Amino acid sequence: MSFLQVQDIHHTYFTKASVTTALSDISLTVEEGEFVSFLGPSGCGKTTLLSIISSLLKPTQGTVLLENKPVSTSKNEIGYMLQQDYLFPWKTIEENILLGLKLSKRLNEKTKLAALSFLSQIGLKGVEKQLPKQLSGGMRQRAALVRTLATEPKLLMLDEPFSALDYQTKLKLEDLVSRTLDEFGKTAILVTHDIGEAIAMSDRIFLFSSKPGKVHKIFEMPEELK
Ligand code: ADP
Ligand code: ADP
Repeated sequence: MSFLQVQDIHHTYFTKASVTTALSDISLTVEEGEFVSFLGPSGCGKTTLLSIISSLLKPTQGTVLLENKPVSTSKNEIGYMLQQDYLFPWKTIEENILLGLKLSKRLNEKTKLAALSFLSQIGLKGVEKQLPKQLSGGMRQRAALVRTLATEPKLLMLDEPFSALDYQTKLKLEDLVSRTLDEFGKTAILVTHDIGEAIAMSDRIFLFSSKPGKVHKIFEMPEELK
């Protein structure tokens, strides 16, 4: 059985003004340790599917299983890295990371030490007592990565995490995040409209058609590109 199974998902948004079918007939699987991307233009349903997999949104139809269990029972097993870092602005980097551990009920001496040592490994040594606004965008995203990985999520969701960064920082972070997730053996899903980013980071790419609700093609990355 696959690590993540997305089965026959349909999703329709009903609002007062409109009815939008964002996803229809989506099925896909992701294996443990795989890095996959959802690639497609704006409005094609990528974020909707990510929210359904995260169980933040209940689909109109279909099921999502993580390790054979409905994903709604594994809410705390999913970590996020989003376009915005969502660090608490009035708390230091260290406090932000410890708070992440506390909120996910994983704060103890061992996880604390691991998180702080990971922070210096990732090039953030010496910024522990600083506030997020004292750091660059790339550093804040690295801190957000430490905060989420510290909670040992089974699955990591990356929703356009590099889109607010300048080009050079983005390339460096893509590489850093790829290597880190490989090292940790993490399963991850990247949502992006940037084909270069998808190619650079993924084992497989699910290409979403601009016609809402269609996953068009699934590309396996050739070995030589991995
Ligand atoms: P993407 O992440 O690929 O940009 P989304 O999943 O955000 O796509 O959106 C897919 C479609 O669903 C779009 O047509 C969008 O307008 C619509 N949509 C997204 N969220 C809502 C919502 N909360 N209410 C109504 N329609 C929505
Ligand atoms: P992330 O979503 O970036 O992985 P965490 O999982 O560490 O963040 O956050 C833990 C909890 O704290 C989540 O429930 C999240 O909604 C909440 N949270 C994190 N940052 C903020 C913020 N700046 N403002 C309000 N709530 C936040």
